[in-house]
Amino acid sequence: MSSLGQIVYRSKSANPALIGMGWSGFTEEIRRRNHHRGVTGVLMFDGEYFLQVLEGDTNAVQSLYETIQRDARHSGVVTIMKESIPFRRFDSWSSCIFEQGNRRTLEDMWAADPADVNAHIRSLASERVSTVVEAFTRGLWEDRKRHASEAEFSEIFSAVKELSDQERADFQKFGAEFAYQPIVDLRSSRVSGYEALIRGKNGQSPADLFRGMSGGTLHMFDLRSKAWAIAVSSKLQPYGNLSINLLPQSLFVLTDAAEALMESVRERGLVPEQITVEVTEEEVITSPDLFFRAIEKLRAFGFKISIDDFGAGYAGLSLLVDFQPDTLKIDRRIVQGIDANGPRQAIVRAIVDFCYCLGIGVVAEGVETPEEMKWLTAAGVDKIQGFLLAKPMVMGLPPVLWPRNGEKLP
Ligand code: C2E
Ligand code: MN
Ligand code: MN
Repeated sequence: MSSLGQIVYRSKSANPALIGMGWSGFTEEIRRRNHHRGVTGVLMFDGEYFLQVLEGDTNAVQSLYETIQRDARHSGVVTIMKESIPFRRFDSWSSCIFEQGNRRTLEDMWAADPADVNAHIRSLASERVSTVVEAFTRGLWEDRKRHASEAEFSEIFSAVKELSDQERADFQKFGAEFAYQPIVDLRSSRVSGYEALIRGKNGQSPADLFRGMSGGTLHMFDLRSKAWAIAVSSKLQPYGNLSINLLPQSLFVLTDAAEALMESVRERGLVPEQITVEVTEEEVITSPDLFFRAIEKLRAFGFKISIDDFGAGYAGLSLLVDFQPDTLKIDRRIVQGIDANGPRQAIVRAIVDFCYCLGIGVVAEGVETPEEMKWLTAAGVDKIQGFLLAKPMVMGLPPVLWPRNGEKLP
């Protein structure tokens, strides 16, 4: 038995003269194509953007969607919904056009369109689809630019310093090393700081390194290792900012954790305002009271606090009711493929909005493509971090590759 599926997507018309070449000719062409494939649905066009609902045999809808994604008349195709449906909502194919700059309500719009008005409203109503359609007609999904424009993204910059052989030899006496990855500020087009990521002596990942340690040892090691992270950083970038990762427990299991960090900072001629302590939301909620107390102490010294991997699950919004960090880092799993994914985009827009209202900075992690970076910039994200700009470098600061206008990086 074949299954029914539905895809809703939005795209930008790559050809503004589309209307000129005749809307009816265009829709007639797709009407024929969709009929041939047994696909029903609706296409809307506001003079610049398309919103299309496709329904039919799951495979037919998928293959049609792939054709559309390759169609030169569409650019920036964003998937909004893709799911199984129990029955068809549309008995045929229809299209609708409404004027740009003169957006009208759904009802006005349909009223202006003589074709099957009521049938369509009924079939759309009571569905998530009708909400999506309405959001489209109101332009609610449009990018809200707050920061630098794309044209400003052409600089390549980075103040790369290297350790001397003596310094390298000194630091290698420790039981672990740190890799540094830049965090780039999209507002200033500058590296705003580096994150220190722990590595074993033989290059082991943090997970592998920590796996062999028991609780007490782990927290002690986690905290002590930050003295090395800070020391190396003070050599590589004495005036820069550094983010360090800590398990929340490492901050309260050892009673003088904040004092110990403060000592490491002072000893290296840095100030606590240069250091951001990152903790993952997952771990915070296991002992919130102890965590909040530890955070108060760090803040009293001048350290900054960041919630790492936000959106990966666990605490989510309820954590932010009790505690507002200086920055919030959006998890890689949300950032991945954001330029073409409606749910991810809606979530990040909401995060940007509430962080803006609360004065929390937003960092997007795991940015791997120029398309993701472009979208995040347009959405008002403050900072990004990811392989696109630089991979973490062990005991050094990697140079940053800044994608030029339209340039595809390898
Ligand atoms: P994190 O703090 O979220 O760090 C980012 C991780 O994502 C790093 O992995 C980094 O190498 C990786 N990454 C960065 N950009 C990209 C990208 O564009 N694509 C992909 N696929 N990955 C990217 P890493 O170094 O393996 O660290 C994993 C986690 O281990 C960290 O996640 C952090 O939670 C934890 N960790 C690292 N160092 C320490 C430490 O000193 N103490 C504690 N308690 N945890 C640490
Ligand atoms: Mn981190
Ligand atoms: Mn993270």
